[in-house]
Amino acid sequence: MARPLKILFVSPEVQPFAKTGGLADVAGALPPALKALGHDVRVMLPKHRSVLSAGVPLSPLGLEVTAKTGDQTRKGFIYQGTLPESVPVYLLENDSYFLRDPLYGTREGDYPDNAERFIFFCQAILESCLALRFIPDIIHLNDWPTGLVPVYLKTLYRKAFSATRTVFSIHNLGYQGNFPPATLSQAGLPPGLFHPGGVEFYGQFSFMKAALVYADLLTTVSPTYCREIQTPAFGFGMDGMLRARGKDLHGVLNGADYHRWDPAHDPWIAENYGPKKLKGKEACRKRLEERFALDIMPQRPIVGMITRLSQQKGLDLVMQVMDDLLATGAGFVLLGEGGALYEEYFRRLGSHPRAGVAIGFDEPLAHQILAGSDILFMPSGYEPCGLTQMYAMKYGTVPLVRAVGGLKDSVREFQAKSGSGTGFKFRHEEKADCLRALDKALSLYRNKAAWRRLRLAGMAEDFSWTRAAEKYNRLYLKALRT
Ligand code: ADP
Repeated sequence: MARPLKILFVSPEVQPFAKTGGLADVAGALPPALKALGHDVRVMLPKHRSVLSAGVPLSPLGLEVTAKTGDQTRKGFIYQGTLPESVPVYLLENDSYFLRDPLYGTREGDYPDNAERFIFFCQAILESCLALRFIPDIIHLNDWPTGLVPVYLKTLYRKAFSATRTVFSIHNLGYQGNFPPATLSQAGLPPGLFHPGGVEFYGQFSFMKAALVYADLLTTVSPTYCREIQTPAFGFGMDGMLRARGKDLHGVLNGADYHRWDPAHDPWIAENYGPKKLKGKEACRKRLEERFALDIMPQRPIVGMITRLSQQKGLDLVMQVMDDLLATGAGFVLLGEGGALYEEYFRRLGSHPRAGVAIGFDEPLAHQILAGSDILFMPSGYEPCGLTQMYAMKYGTVPLVRAVGGLKDSVREFQAKSGSGTGFKFRHEEKADCLRALDKALSLYRNKAAWRRLRLAGMAEDFSWTRAAEKYNRLYLKALRT
């Protein structure tokens, strides 16, 4: 490699310290893959309450930073942990802002002080770099809670970071961090930035917009989502802005972390297995059937879902097809938490003899459902990348997905004639289209040899992070030329 870069990777959640979804998986796996390329990579996140129960050693660095929200000066303290490849992880402590669980809000809604919490975080990131005497070549930012860093670098912190470039990754454009206009002064930013070419988004102050305007390079997590967000149907009002920055916007498909997600050495499943020893998968299925006392008809699959219960995940469609699905004699298992109405629906569904439902966040159970199911169902309305379908393939669990975003890019449609492909896809967010795909999957399931081939094709796919890390490496070099 040409020269090792100093890279600070910033995310509001990082596995194993704090997690609500796929972003944490990415932030826990991409930095070690970048370090393996020879870079000096460090990671930063808030010290959330869940960090305390994560069981990972932390030590205080004895460094204090201050940041201003409005006219209040707030203190933060830096702790250090590590990720694989000895990647240092800096955790920013401020208990009044971050000693909370869940991370962003409760079922009733987002925390009312989220703007203030993440203004503090964004400033404290830069203050921490100064305190640590670590001036990065690249700051790689992820999702709206980190979105003010690019604008700070172009304004208040310009001098100290004149050679630093920012890369901002969109993991989900549906979460934008939009707040009242007064947030601008709370962030200490010049009033002149509040216009549609700056941080204003339809009369509000937007963290996401700030990142999209001021970051040197933009990325998102799959090539298809990269195209989709430049259209009104998927752009959440930001598509015009994204089209305008089209030449700076790149789609890089996420990887899967096979250290954590591999049935050959997964500590949480009933029996380890792999492509040469598929028998263990039967034991995993049996354990899942027992756990939820599922009364499945012979020769029928278990259809599994592990998901945030948010509208994005196509749950309305799931509800529409559920009667038909269960009427086939197949089993259905879901692990998820989120929207109160969805929780209510699935809780009730759990009393059906062929359905098993767990409401909550449960890492071991997520692995057990992946290993014990035959089909993973992801009928998402939109899906920036989606990791669960990648993990499913590794576990020999055949994905049935809607052909959007990263689902379209990572699942290859099964072809009856040649027997090639890794899963089933449908296009339209409609009951009939979805049922057609389900029907195809259920009939193929009865053909043991064909199903086995399909399973093995998925298990042979390689979504490891090295390939994505090399792409980010090239993008960092591009950002440094801007
Ligand atoms: P998203 O990031 O939109 O939530 P992804 O498919 O990219 O979707 O990633 C979801 C990640 O979160 C996976 O690692 C999945 O196993 C995990 N996950 C989602 N819901 C739960 C849950 N209720 N309990 C445990 N893990 C969950």
